[in-house]
Amino acid sequence: MHKHDVLIVGAGGAGLRAAVAAHEAGADVAIVSKLHPVRSHTGAAEGGINAALKDEDDWHDHAYDTVKGSDYIGDQEPINIMTREAPNEVINLENMGMAFSREEDKRVAQRPFGGLSFPRTTYASDKTGHMLLHTMYEQVLKRGITVYDEWYVTDLVVENGRAHGVTAIDLQTGRVDSFAANATIFATGGMGQVYEHTTNAVANTGDGLSIAYRAGVPMEDMEFIQFHPTTLPSTGILITEACRGEGGILYNNEGERFMYERGYAPNAGELASRDVVSRAELIEVQEGRGFEQGTVHLDLTHFGEEKIEERLAQILELARDFEGVDPVEEPIPVKPGQHYTMGGIACDADGKTNVEGFYAVGEAACVSVHGANRLGGNALLELVVFGKRAGEHAAKASAGSSSASVSPSKVEVRAEEERERIEELMSGTGVHQSEIREEVQEIMTEKVGVFRTEEGLKEAREAIQDAKRRYEDVTVKDSSSTFNTDLTQTLELRSILDVAEVITESALARTESRGAHSRDDYTERNDDDWLKHTMAHYAGENEYPRLEYDDVIIEEYEPKERSY
Ligand SMILES: Cc1cc2nc3c(=O)[nH]c(=O)nc-3n(C[C@H](O)[C@H](O)[C@H](O)COP(=O)(O)OP(=O)(O)OC[C@H]3O[C@@H](n4cnc5c(N)ncnc54)[C@H](O)[C@@H]3O)c2cc1C
Repeated sequence: MHKHDVLIVGAGGAGLRAAVAAHEAGADVAIVSKLHPVRSHTGAAEGGINAALKDEDDWHDHAYDTVKGSDYIGDQEPINIMTREAPNEVINLENMGMAFSREEDKRVAQRPFGGLSFPRTTYASDKTGHMLLHTMYEQVLKRGITVYDEWYVTDLVVENGRAHGVTAIDLQTGRVDSFAANATIFATGGMGQVYEHTTNAVANTGDGLSIAYRAGVPMEDMEFIQFHPTTLPSTGILITEACRGEGGILYNNEGERFMYERGYAPNAGELASRDVVSRAELIEVQEGRGFEQGTVHLDLTHFGEEKIEERLAQILELARDFEGVDPVEEPIPVKPGQHYTMGGIACDADGKTNVEGFYAVGEAACVSVHGANRLGGNALLELVVFGKRAGEHAAKASAGSSSASVSPSKVEVRAEEERERIEELMSGTGVHQSEIREEVQEIMTEKVGVFRTEEGLKEAREAIQDAKRRYEDVTVKDSSSTFNTDLTQTLELRSILDVAEVITESALARTESRGAHSRDDYTERNDDDWLKHTMAHYAGENEYPRLEYDDVIIEEYEPKERSY
């Protein structure tokens, strides 16, 4: 049994930022993570982090761009907080030692990004997430914050509307243990593995979403899944938006710069928001103007080697090593791939959820700053702005909570139940997780992808129900207790199934097209009926999620038609 004031699950940018803030606020903090911190997926972020730093720029413009990007369903109150606090947080990162790229005059450099009306994306070459993750981890080490790495959290213990801590498996030994805490923060990242073609790491299986959902916390706006327009066709590896920010051009097989020439975004062209560019690419391919593997071409050859080496060094390596294409000499084939979850664990701007003592932050959370479509460079920003706030708030609440209200024995009882569940998984003779996992990933890509229809969504719903029935008989074949990946993947599959079901149900119910949610059978945005957030509640093992709806917070920006 372990006991801490504030327990943070997840050691990506969000978890580490929350840990530093909670520690600075005087709490005894610990982090539990299934990966070593610097292997977290934040390290894969390439392009940059947004902040209105320059005199000519204004955080109000950043707020407006974000609201418009969200297709007016992002809540304007947290968007204002995020964009107003952005410059301080970016300067704070710099003061902590983050190696930003520089202008000639040595100021932090900024580049254009999709959907932004000003070049306000700060960056560290094309390794921004890597630099951020390492900077934050150094801060955690410096403060001596306890990190339990390679521990897989299996459950959140909630009783009488209060969180008491989590249960987790030590992946090195296979031992299940309990962690009691006055405040628990989930910073467990995204869920790209619900899809077959994704930019996300294999560890991004939506565990935190599923655990919180089963514990009674609603999943907000899960139908809004971002597909990034430039991923490598064979692997799903991301080719950063910075390529287009720096002037990269998209062509179809007729040599047309289709974003302009086919009228998808007559003003912004390649720098329209991601939902707009992804749809345009797929239409080009469907209408026969694409290349092999359903791709279009991203051309950087006019940059010259020196510029690519300086600004986009990682892209050179990725395209050469994983696609066998040299961007200095030839265009890169690209297609849309699942990239980001706009929705997540419903929480407020302090990370607070409907369960006392339970917080969420980062990609796993839905503070509702991205709405129906996230702008590139706003996710890393969300981690640091709301990571800080959640950490501070959790520390304050933890100091104020009487330790009697948290019950370590409840967590220990649940740990015993988890031991039994795992023993059962390891002693059966049923189906292997890999069979079910692949089918779900395929159906989600095919039927719950960029374009959706009622018929397709219903097919996906049936397939997921069937997969859930088969999962009841799932068995772990590997009996070892040390780094048993068969066991972890089996546990992760339950998360994938839960998340797939919530996405599909939420998407089926939303009979309109908005941002990344694009229905062939309801092609218009419908503010009269759908200017609202979906809240999906867990209704039991064999039940569909129960859907409720919440109002969108509109302050200064009234919804209007979006064009780029
Ligand atoms: C390829 C790529 C490029 C991107 N580029 C940009 C960009 O340029 N700019 C931008 O703003 N955004 C970008 N994004 C988005 C952004 O990087 C992510 O949204 C963000 O890094 C997520 O951070 P996080 O801390 O929430 O989660 P992560 O960094 O994914 O960390 C999640 C943590 O949770 C832990 N965890 C998960 N489940 C469990 C469990 N069951 N038990 C214990 N621990 C668990 C993991 O070990 C990990 O430590 C990019 C995303 C991708 C995939």
